Amino acid sequence: CGIVGILGKGPVAGQLVEALKRLEYRGYDSAGIATLEEGRLTRLRASGKLKNLEEKLAASPMRGSVGIGHTRWATHGKPNEDNAHPHANARVAVVHNGIIENFRELREELIAKGHAFTSQTDSEVVAHLVADEMQAGAAPQAAVAAALKRLKGAFALAFLFNNEPDLLIGARRGSPLAVGWSEEGAYLGSDALALAPFATSIAYLDEGDWVVLRRAGAQFFDAQDAPVERRRLPLQQGS
Ligand code: GLU
Repeated sequence: CGIVGILGKGPVAGQLVEALKRLEYRGYDSAGIATLEEGRLTRLRASGKLKNLEEKLAASPMRGSVGIGHTRWATHGKPNEDNAHPHANARVAVVHNGIIENFRELREELIAKGHAFTSQTDSEVVAHLVADEMQAGAAPQAAVAAALKRLKGAFALAFLFNNEPDLLIGARRGSPLAVGWSEEGAYLGSDALALAPFATSIAYLDEGDWVVLRRAGAQFFDAQDAPVERRRLPLQQGS
């Protein structure tokens, strides 16, 4: 129900949780984050309140300086830890807001190709679709572009890749998503409120857009994969 992503200078886990707290007002039943710990995708997920996630984080701190986070409002699959986002495999982790309408056929296709599913969500197909493209040789950006073309439904997505400490990819179709910037890093978030403590400027993805985010800058693409510019606006700090 809420999405956040951070490319920072120091550990981002605490900031991810802080941003998720600012998305609590949307309602949620579980939450999770993923970071790169020494380059490797590492997840922490918990059902119930963000406090449960915070307790887990205190018990096993994460040091990664890039990460994604999610508050889930279950639509497909019970609200439990296995179904909590991020969904991940060895190559990619994803957080998803919305519904993937054609997830059943995609799931069958991916299972037939040997992908192992660990949740009952519609969202998990997105992680395996991207991994499947990468397995066939695609780089992260091309893999996401190809996967997006296979998805039906309404969504906002954020991707974090194994061994890619300077990359996040976001996509918007039917659910809002914004990019933020500051001296400290680059951000993805469901709304300006989530990014207000961190970002000093913000740009919204237009419907159908996707964005490749690195610390040095963002490249926006429209639904046809044509590079586009999106207007960057100042964001009031701490609002
Ligand atoms: N449909 C997804 C799920 O049930 C995402 C729900 C959400 O937007 O939080 O896991």
